[in-house]
Amino acid sequence: MEACNDYYYATRDPLGRDGDFTTAPEISQMFGELVGAALADAWDKAGRPAEAVYAELGPGRGTLAADALRVLRAAGFAGEVHLVETSPTLRAKQSERVPNAIWHDSIEELPRVPLLVAANEFFDALPIRQFVGAMERKVKIAAGGLAFDRDGEIVEKSPARDEAAAALARRIVGNGGMAIIVDYGHERTAPGDTLQAVRGHRYVPILVDAGEQDLTSHVDFEALGKAATEAGAKVTDVVIQGDWLNRLGIGARAAALATANPDRVPELEDAVDRLCHEDRMGQLFKVMALHSADWPIPAGFEA
Ligand code: SAH
Repeated sequence: MEACNDYYYATRDPLGRDGDFTTAPEISQMFGELVGAALADAWDKAGRPAEAVYAELGPGRGTLAADALRVLRAAGFAGEVHLVETSPTLRAKQSERVPNAIWHDSIEELPRVPLLVAANEFFDALPIRQFVGAMERKVKIAAGGLAFDRDGEIVEKSPARDEAAAALARRIVGNGGMAIIVDYGHERTAPGDTLQAVRGHRYVPILVDAGEQDLTSHVDFEALGKAATEAGAKVTDVVIQGDWLNRLGIGARAAALATANPDRVPELEDAVDRLCHEDRMGQLFKVMALHSADWPIPAGFEA
């Protein structure tokens, strides 16, 4: 999974209508703006530390960063922009939308200053391992192609995701700050096979065309939260994306954009529906935040 995704992301921009999948920031500017508003609010309540930086994990085309930074800049935030991205293709895209960013290969390379972190659909792309009982499920070569070597009730674990969450938490605990994590997944650890391959906006067979389709699995937010807590961070409740965006005021933001751009009303209404409706992205996608003890609980997570 790791090798397939490294190759997959290094060799293409998979996002958008002509690609394989569409993410929340690519649906509407409102998504990134509300992430930026939540970060700006926490930064303000933390005393507006001047040395704080905006950091993003797996920034795709840089759309979320551009939208979030517009709001952060308007709030007076003047800090640097640090992007954790391994794909050269996507780094080039990001540099078009986020001039003057500083790139890193890993979370460990982020500067030791207060961090305002966003990570949308980053963790799902990190590799998982599947187990049937005590045995790890592996891929074997069979007649006609690749096949899984065993069947049964599957339990998924992701040391790579746990380590990324712990690394992020360590950095936030050490220097202050917060992280907003958005992804599809479940609030509680549970058995089940959630490995999936997506190509051209469709689910496709997993063991075909290695490296040519997006290979992901649902994120276990309980496991991420546990890894971050063990590393010393404060971890919020998990909130479904629809509730989180509504609490942050997506309705008011859509209304303001509609007033300024009456011709965009149908597009704005569809975007809110896609992002928030429980049958679309509103319920499957979850939001969780990490923060240091001296930073506030971020907006949108209060019960
Ligand atoms: N956040 C963007 C893109 C999500 S796709 C959006 O919402 O549109 C996943 C992103 O994570 C891509 O930018 C991909 O290149 C990056 N990525 C995947 N594995 C990574 C890794 N191990 N380290 C850093 N970035 C990674």
